[in-house]
Amino acid sequence: MKLDTRAMRHLAPDDWKVLAAVEQGSKNHEIVPTTIIERFSRIKGGVSGVHRCISNLAKVGLIAKIKEQKYDGYRLTYGGLDYLALHTHAQKNAVYSVGSRVGVGKESDIMIVADDTGAQKILKIHRLGRISFRTVKTNRDYLKNKPSASWMYLSCLAARKEFAFMTALQEEGFPVPTPIAQSRHTIVMSLVDAPPLRQISSVPDPASLYAELIALLLRFAKHGLIHGDYNEFNILIKDDVTTAEDGIESIKLTPVVIDFPQMISMEHVNAEMYFDRDVECIKRVFARKFHFTSTTPGPFYKDAKKTIGKDGARRLDAVLEASGITKKMAKELEAAIRQEEAEKEANPEAFENEDEEEGSEEEEEDSGEEEGEEEEEEQRVIVIGDDGKIAGVEEMKKLSINDGT
Ligand code: ADP
Ligand code: MG
Repeated sequence: MKLDTRAMRHLAPDDWKVLAAVEQGSKNHEIVPTTIIERFSRIKGGVSGVHRCISNLAKVGLIAKIKEQKYDGYRLTYGGLDYLALHTHAQKNAVYSVGSRVGVGKESDIMIVADDTGAQKILKIHRLGRISFRTVKTNRDYLKNKPSASWMYLSCLAARKEFAFMTALQEEGFPVPTPIAQSRHTIVMSLVDAPPLRQISSVPDPASLYAELIALLLRFAKHGLIHGDYNEFNILIKDDVTTAEDGIESIKLTPVVIDFPQMISMEHVNAEMYFDRDVECIKRVFARKFHFTSTTPGPFYKDAKKTIGKDGARRLDAVLEASGITKKMAKELEAAIRQEEAEKEANPEAFENEDEEEGSEEEEEDSGEEEGEEEEEEQRVIVIGDDGKIAGVEEMKKLSINDGT
């Protein structure tokens, strides 16, 4: 279940229309009956044309055939959703080419992409269900434990929520990546050329970085928010070298915070627990990594709570509803994220070495994809190097989208 754009250039305009029809049908049908796909497709060549496209799409795993008691039908796969999202980003000039995967997060794939000027950006693809469907063996999902349509819906919600928060945080001047576009389960954002705190083994002044991170956490609280996963993977550390007039260089470390689908309000029923968990996490990282322990106790939730909205701080926990995510939707998303968290804790090995399980993951029903074809288009997994520079991005592949427009 990783982004694979190889089949994209082989799709014809009618295939795109049929793919869009399956997506449209998915809004009301868990399994979209062929008759519905025919109705939504609006292509010339009638029913047999639609069937040819269905077979093309199924062959490359963008839709999957599901046999049900009452009727046979199709379901969009994560691959199909990826293509539709990339298609939208390409149309809006947010993404022109796709490069390598820089990270596999808990519930996401992180890709380097570029726009048509060559400017590099990050594409985050939300993949809720990836952990659960691999660990919950009893989950009799339609696609041999592949994530169901509802996981895809939740991934779209996660992307919407993350984009809404990133936008609001950016507006308030928080150090976060610049949100650029969102489509379905994906976000395009600015590339932060900085390694996660995880990769940093020493800093000149741990006390000041610690103070800065705690101040940031309290600033979130003042705006009514708790990050909810304030850990060493979600804090990137930029190091800007400045040279003073006397020629002495100094390094200024600036944190940039990422990863917002699990953000919650300071008014959440379990707010105190999540607030304390974020604080503890930072303390633990600094003790372990830099042997630094602050002499100041706290900060404490009850004190932070008193600061909400102070000094004219805009309440950002209201952002979600303003962006059309209802309380019910937010609850569903939260439940899914907690489930994944619990799965991860219970089975940490289940989502490590993702790439090694490639074989089993690719076998979509009806998939006749030829392995090894167009080998030069294999996507290389790259890492953000220790020096904080992104390596290996010369491998960008232009998206070939032939949708007839
Ligand atoms: P997840 O929700 O799956 O944890 P994250 O948003 O935390 O996903 O991203 C996973 C990893 O990808 C991060 O730890 C970081 O290394 C990298 N990453 C994510 N966004 C960016 C960005 N905008 N710039 C640079 N690296 C990023
Ligand atoms: Mg993360």
